[in-house]
Amino acid sequence: MHFYILTLFPEMVMQGLGTSILGRAAQRGHISVEAVNIRDYTLDKHGKVDDYTYGGGAGMLMQAQPVYDACMAVQERIAKRCGEDGRAAGARVVYVTPQGRTFHQEMAREFAREEDLIFLCGHYEGIDERVLEEIVTDQVSIGDYVLTGGELPAMVMVDAIARLVPGVLHNSESALTETFHDGLLEYPQYSRPEIWHGRRVPEILLSGDHARVDAWRLAQSLERTKRLRPDLYEAYMAAKNAPKETKE
Ligand code: SAM
Repeated sequence: MHFYILTLFPEMVMQGLGTSILGRAAQRGHISVEAVNIRDYTLDKHGKVDDYTYGGGAGMLMQAQPVYDACMAVQERIAKRCGEDGRAAGARVVYVTPQGRTFHQEMAREFAREEDLIFLCGHYEGIDERVLEEIVTDQVSIGDYVLTGGELPAMVMVDAIARLVPGVLHNSESALTETFHDGLLEYPQYSRPEIWHGRRVPEILLSGDHARVDAWRLAQSLERTKRLRPDLYEAYMAAKNAPKETKE
């Protein structure tokens, strides 16, 4: 899967996504991450990419032209590769914005099915509305608070999506048992030593009885979800108890 991040701060994005699991996944060719510097596309001879807002108000706004040209340059490269691969062209463009739908695991799963994904990071007061209307397919937020720029939200989303791409995680099991995978929070986990600060690892985990361990983990997940996230617990129980659709 190929990620393209349109940003004014490419080094921030590459530093954040170039190490650890995602860095290794990129080296092994499971994903690629490219930060595209929007400033490289401005036609302003002083390299300016922002200006005052019409109608007044505090702060600067990112202008339409460099954002549009940067996005089109990436879309053209993708279209060329799609033509070679025989696929349909036109990658989704995700504008990260506090005004968008709130990101969640199911959305990450949906995005992970794409071959190419373009993220657009705003800065300052945001981006001229006209270019957003022309190029953006999805507006997504990471939560109800306002950050100075879209780089951290884009990194959060790329991380959550990339780890669902086959081959990125060493042990493909780990994404399948994790929090949110089946609507529950994950059970508590323990490593060596068996006793730490006088606290023992639950006896059942040392038993070697996999069926009992699985049952214990499910019970822990249910208890933890009910206590910490009653909203998720209710949704899980409602789905579990919903009558199954019968075929005529
Ligand atoms: N003036 C904008 C508004 O009131 O909606 C906020 C602009 S914010 C200071 C600058 C940029 O940070 C946004 O264009 C967006 O790309 C990014 N950003 C800020 N908070 C975000 C959030 N919660 N989720 C996703 N992106 C966010």
